[in-house]
Amino acid sequence: MTILSIRDLDVRHGLLQAVRGLSFDLAKGEVLALVGANGAGKTTLLRAIAGAHLPAGGQILLDGADITLIPSHKRIAKGIALVPEGRRLFSQMTVEENLLLGKSSGRKGAWTVERVFDAFPNLKPRRHAKTGHLSGGEQQATAIGRALMSNPDILLLDEVSLGLSPLVVDRVYQQLQGLLSSGTTIVLVEQDLSRAMSVANRIICMLEGHIVLDRPASGVTRDDVTRAYFGLH
Ligand code: ATP
Repeated sequence: MTILSIRDLDVRHGLLQAVRGLSFDLAKGEVLALVGANGAGKTTLLRAIAGAHLPAGGQILLDGADITLIPSHKRIAKGIALVPEGRRLFSQMTVEENLLLGKSSGRKGAWTVERVFDAFPNLKPRRHAKTGHLSGGEQQATAIGRALMSNPDILLLDEVSLGLSPLVVDRVYQQLQGLLSSGTTIVLVEQDLSRAMSVANRIICMLEGHIVLDRPASGVTRDDVTRAYFGLH
């Protein structure tokens, strides 16, 4: 069943058109990895889906309803949560306070602060620490936890690996694994192609604001994706 439809989406930064006439449908429970070179438009697309950047044209439909122009806080209430690039935590506030900020009064569901600590056990002893004092991995876990607190139907993850050591990235993905298999629909931007291909069931490769490859992860080789990445197809 389709949960999200993107139709002919155009997103601009001033004169620059970062997303160009892009279309795809996302099924409920799908885990989609968006890959592509720096500047391909992945972050811009995620921000448009989250309502952080309104598109210049086209449509975004959630469960068939047009949400193209509604503001981000209303999208959270409708079940779309973004873990932004760079985490964007409130560094002077504690882990628990940051998590509580993620709650959305319009959403019911199973996520609580305690459940986030069950999913990310390394955070629990840090619950009263200011997030500015945390390690990168702990900050990333807090940012993911904050998004989960809104009980999203669609979770958008922008480069959760950025700036983390490979060991810490492994741990963050291990902790995400439960979510990946729980039926939550996920769109993740991931620079590490192998990791993207191992966690996702579908891969979209973007180049200059377009989709150049859209395939099931099981039906694509690393070579196919790499060629698409460089525009060789
Ligand atoms: P990255 O991996 O570097 O984040 P990306 O695929 O996520 O790349 P975007 O960040 O969406 O790509 O950028 C797409 C294009 O839009 C790039 O040319 C970028 O320079 C431009 N761009 C992004 N943000 C802005 C902004 N705030 N103002 C102006 N141009 C921007």
